[in-house]
Amino acid sequence: MHLFKYHGRELFAEDIAVTELTEKYGTPLYIYSYNTLLRHFQAYTDAFKDYPHIICFALKANPNIAILRLFAKNGGGADIVSGGELYKALKAGIPPKKIVYAGVGKTKEEIRFALRSKILMFNVESEDELREINRIAGVMRLKAPIALRINPDIDPETHPYIATGLKRHKFGIPIEDGLEYYRVASRLKNIKVIGIHKHIGSQITKVSPFVDALRRILFLMDKLSTEGLNIQYLDIGGGLGISYRDEEPPVPEDLARNLIPLLKGRRLALIVEPGRSIVGNAGILVTKTLYLKKGEEKEFVIVDAGMNDLIRPSLYGAYHQLLPVVRKKRNTTLCDVVGPVCESSDFLAKERELKRVKQGEYLAVMGAGAYGFSMSSNYNSRPRAAEVMVRGREHFLIRERETYRDLIRSERIQGFLK
Ligand SMILES: *Cc1c(COP(=O)(O)O)cnc(C)c1O
Repeated sequence: MHLFKYHGRELFAEDIAVTELTEKYGTPLYIYSYNTLLRHFQAYTDAFKDYPHIICFALKANPNIAILRLFAKNGGGADIVSGGELYKALKAGIPPKKIVYAGVGKTKEEIRFALRSKILMFNVESEDELREINRIAGVMRLKAPIALRINPDIDPETHPYIATGLKRHKFGIPIEDGLEYYRVASRLKNIKVIGIHKHIGSQITKVSPFVDALRRILFLMDKLSTEGLNIQYLDIGGGLGISYRDEEPPVPEDLARNLIPLLKGRRLALIVEPGRSIVGNAGILVTKTLYLKKGEEKEFVIVDAGMNDLIRPSLYGAYHQLLPVVRKKRNTTLCDVVGPVCESSDFLAKERELKRVKQGEYLAVMGAGAYGFSMSSNYNSRPRAAEVMVRGREHFLIRERETYRDLIRSERIQGFLK
């Protein structure tokens, strides 16, 4: 459920017409609904309220600091995958004891930073990494709290680029080797084993992969406890899907109802790491039609948002619904909606039946709140879009549109070139 709806002919973001926002802030423009974000976050806290838990928002889905602050104020933690994300999470006021750190390539500097910050735990993805964390913690004279990220070899039945829990993936430790790794970890002097972690992929639209993966993890945990290794934190990752088109993904409540009974009789704190399912449908990208061009086979609608603003269609062939910001009575036509970037893969929609749009009219790219702005770039030297948060009739600029100056801010022409 989100709060981008038509009132008459006009698309609204909560109680404000999107046209009003494009007039004030220009395009391409990311618009987020405060009340949708809050509602989606609370759906998780409500679903898991009867079990000790922390909702650690996966920053990579949308790391805007205002959005992080919103979750922090409502008791949220963070799932991070880099030093930069740690920095942002702390700046947003997320308590370090609610931060978990995954990723296969943590650098020394990042490990030191996380140890210094006293995060809840590292989700460790290899033996080399485990030993490196142990060594650095030794130098710093402290014990590093860790979980091992276990790869349960479960097919999440999603796009291959966003599946992470199969044997062929680079993530985590093969479940067959789990016991051995935990033995190694428990013998390291500057490591404190406190948790177990899994994350099997993203945009998962069924409950069963979560259930199957958890069963496998619990089986391993039982083996660990017979060796006296008691796990306090069970981190089940994120990955719940959203409806981009006609998917009917489970909601947090479904997840909780199916998973919590499996934990009966275990004294654990649960960690959940949702990203997409909180922010995905809480954001849209608004773009203006620049030109129309009739090709031999179809029409091209050329808009001012490109793959540098939203790469999901180019990267995954992802589907995003496109809606006119002002509805008109028009015929439909088959078209490609493309951006200005000089790549044939620069499109927002391919072979899409759309109501005809005219030059200067606006389109809303729905479901753009997750992996939208966060994956944007300056490719083709395009300044990145502005981000706005709407709450009721109020609107707040939460990231300024980049300027041309921003494009060269950190570049230098050295003396020998002068
Ligand atoms: C990306 C990621 C998430 C969030 O995934 P969503 O599909 O956006 O919910 C959670 N945990 C880890 C370790 C991740 O890499």
